[in-house]
Amino acid sequence: MAKVTKVLIESDKIAQRIKQLGAQITQDYAGKTVLMIAILRGSVIFFSDLIREIDSDKVDIIIDFISVSSYGSSHKTTGEVRMLKDADEAIDGKDVIIVEDIVDTGLTLQYLKKVLSSRNPSSLKVCCLLDKPERRKVEISADYLGFTIPNEFVVGYGFDYAQKYRNLKDICVLDPKAK
Ligand code: 5GP
Repeated sequence: MAKVTKVLIESDKIAQRIKQLGAQITQDYAGKTVLMIAILRGSVIFFSDLIREIDSDKVDIIIDFISVSSYGSSHKTTGEVRMLKDADEAIDGKDVIIVEDIVDTGLTLQYLKKVLSSRNPSSLKVCCLLDKPERRKVEISADYLGFTIPNEFVVGYGFDYAQKYRNLKDICVLDPKAK
């Protein structure tokens, strides 16, 4: 059983914000086909909710997945981010949106943007559920952002601690005793 100290963002608030993000993406990409790339594993729940909030009458989407190594949130140089699973789709000439769970130091996103932009997409944007600006090491931000949060370690709604707690409905802060 998961023991959490507090709920940071309740599930209905998450759903409400994702509706707004989906509406914004629908408006910005109307008439286009968008390649949406989820960054495994943390973003999968956000991703599956987000893509269903994009109006299919107005925007076509293709989904794909990338997995990068994450050495916790303490990695110090860009050299420590590594691709574990690349995208299956070609990026060249496509309108691409990277869907990430959280921007923390920003190193993962910096790496992903560098790798994908080198493949000549027609456009490349980032949609991120959470932002922890206090811990930023490189200047980078999401084009579409769900919530800005304080410097606390979150679990639930896709976020894990040691691969657990991803299935909590709310975004929570874990009790240190539960670790
Ligand atoms: P960054 O490269 O921006 O420092 O790290 C991004 C990655 O660190 C995220 O994709 C996520 O996997 C992990 N991360 C950062 N903060 C948290 C957090 O509060 N909770 C969890 N579960 N993962 C986090």
